[in-house]
Amino acid sequence: MDVEDIRADLTEVLITEEEIHAKLAELARRVEADYADTTPLLVGVLKGAVMVMADFARELRIHIDMDWMAVSSYGAGTESSGVVRILKDLDTDIAGRDVLIVEDIIDSGLTLSWLLQNLRSRGAKSVKILALLRKPESIKVDVDVAYVGFDIPPAFVVGYGLDFAERYRNLRAIGVLAPHVYE
Ligand code: 5GP
Ligand code: MG
Ligand code: MG
Repeated sequence: MDVEDIRADLTEVLITEEEIHAKLAELARRVEADYADTTPLLVGVLKGAVMVMADFARELRIHIDMDWMAVSSYGAGTESSGVVRILKDLDTDIAGRDVLIVEDIIDSGLTLSWLLQNLRSRGAKSVKILALLRKPESIKVDVDVAYVGFDIPPAFVVGYGLDFAERYRNLRAIGVLAPHVYE
């Protein structure tokens, strides 16, 4: 039977599955060294970071704890507002912990800047950020991202956890959505 392959909705693959995995392995070696004397708490930001967390965490050969948060930074529009609501909070008390936020993408930086402040105010010993993607040309607030996978142009991308209207998260690669999909 013929299936409609959702990969056909991409105009361009920006980052292949192989490139993602190679990069995550590279970042994992740095994180292992940086957290050699502690057990970090990895905090994944739902839902976009699910794939990054799954693959990155399995690259690590040290003990970690894992927890999740869901936040909403967008009101009605598609632009990040900086007004963040917690939809699902951590199950973990992070006082005294070394926290590593795991994110899919840093766009304006508003969401992560808020999250960083929020987690620091709970008395974490350290809070650092790992983001698979970053759009340097879209950054509005300066956020120190300790571990960045790829810098990409300011196009709207999908795949590997990143959605358009909740779709395309299951693509293995990261790519640019064809205009016919949203026009
Ligand atoms: P920020 O607050 O940095 O502007 O927004 C971060 C969030 O916006 C990301 O975690 C992600 O959910 C969403 N976002 C930003 N850029 C893109 C993009 O190119 N594609 C997708 N699918 N989501 C994006
Ligand atoms: Mg995200
Ligand atoms: Mg989204």
